[in-house]
Amino acid sequence: MEDLRESTIHVAYIISAVLFIIGLKRLSAPATARQGNQLAIAAMVIAFLVTLIDREIVTYWAIIIGTLIGGGIGLYLARAVQMTAMPQLVALFNGMGGGTAAVIAVGEFIKFARDGEVAVGEALAVSFGVTVGCIAFTGSLVAGGKLHELLPSGAIRSPIQMPVSILLLLGVVATWVVLVGFDGGNTTVWAMFAIALILGVALVIPIGGGDMPVVVALLNSMTGLAAAAAGFVLDNQILVIAGALVGASGMLLTILMSRAMNRPLSNVFFGAFGAAGASGATADAEAKPIRETTPDDAAVMLGYAQSVIIVPGYGLAVAQAQHAIRELADELDKRNVTVRYAIHPVAGRMPGHMNVLLAEANVPYDQLFEMEQINSEFQRTDVVLVVGANDVVNPAARSDTSSPIYGMPILNADQAQSIIVMKRSMKPGFAGIENELFHLDKTRMLFGDAKDTLAEVIGSVKAV
Ligand code: NDP
Repeated sequence: MEDLRESTIHVAYIISAVLFIIGLKRLSAPATARQGNQLAIAAMVIAFLVTLIDREIVTYWAIIIGTLIGGGIGLYLARAVQMTAMPQLVALFNGMGGGTAAVIAVGEFIKFARDGEVAVGEALAVSFGVTVGCIAFTGSLVAGGKLHELLPSGAIRSPIQMPVSILLLLGVVATWVVLVGFDGGNTTVWAMFAIALILGVALVIPIGGGDMPVVVALLNSMTGLAAAAAGFVLDNQILVIAGALVGASGMLLTILMSRAMNRPLSNVFFGAFGAAGASGATADAEAKPIRETTPDDAAVMLGYAQSVIIVPGYGLAVAQAQHAIRELADELDKRNVTVRYAIHPVAGRMPGHMNVLLAEANVPYDQLFEMEQINSEFQRTDVVLVVGANDVVNPAARSDTSSPIYGMPILNADQAQSIIVMKRSMKPGFAGIENELFHLDKTRMLFGDAKDTLAEVIGSVKAV
């Protein structure tokens, strides 16, 4: 009977692991992402239920009460949060995962120590889980605070920063040596916990807001690794597998995002992007000429074009204009205008931000094109409609070596025959720098909230 129970648990864990892997694979394309999410949820439910049967850690009452409180808060936050505040919520949730892994590792260590000697392997896994989990916890809280502007979003730097971080790092290493090599007790593990918490703050505080998405992706990877370590400590295979998957995918995302922003990881941690913000490039923004247009004129340009590329950006999310843009695309489609969307990997404020928004408005997936797929098409395109995007179409990234975004791959919107830019003012985007695109002869600025302006353009296209 006991054997049957054991094998059922193992088989269920394998099914859960396979579902996690297939779910992750499906997440890599917009058309299958929803299904990928559902598979991952199913995997999590199986893992959760089987763990409940498998272990007798605490009473079922404690689990039910904890699940209701934690699940209730999570559900409320996920529903109440504005789409534009999603990155900080992701950072917060990520931090909770890291903190949980660290607390589990400490709890298990105390249990091991009470029950007898702690093996070297166990002490190593505990040290890793505590250190990485704590750094992920406080690091994510600081990242979330910066994204939500509860903390100054720029890079906060001081000359003592580096020495303090190195001292803290040495402190953590010392606690590792004592815990693993000299049978350090509960005091050592708590010291490690406290120092790693401070280290998380010290590491993220100096990094500018512009690099936060890369930082959150990296911290996410660390949370996965901390969870995997907690899996070793608890001898729970599914936690090891799921943690390793999160660790690996978080690391891949970090690398891909660094590439998309042209920011080597070393530069993210030790560079100054977002620190100075404007680098003086905004200075003469007001002085240079721009050409304004009206919704009626924009509708004529769009309605009589053969091909249109829409470039969505953060402003689309702020204006919640995803349904309006889809409606405009449908109207243009009725007039046999070819409409495509160009998606920059870091458009918006989180990975996949534009995909999520456009999927919500049921934009057909075959109209969505990634930067590499569509960049050569701009020069053959009649009109580019930039909706609340700025940095991701800034030609300075290509040509201005002094620009903070120099080297970041951008969408070649400036190569189209004509360009319409929808935004509310001449204010800069996230990187805080001026955009030459807005001053080109072939660019028309259409000022106003994207949703309101789009409604007017749609009305005019219908009348054209
Ligand atoms: P930007 O932040 O560069 O520009 C957004 C533009 O939208 C602004 O210029 C703003 O102009 C306009 N806007 C804001 N609200 C509205 C509105 N209601 N209606 C119309 N326009 C509006 O966005 P991009 O998407 O081009 O670039 C993303 C930037 O964010 C990059 O620098 C990227 O590195 C960074 N980043 C990316 C993350 C990611 O993972 N995707 C995460 C964090 C940062 P105005 O105020 O005049 O309206």
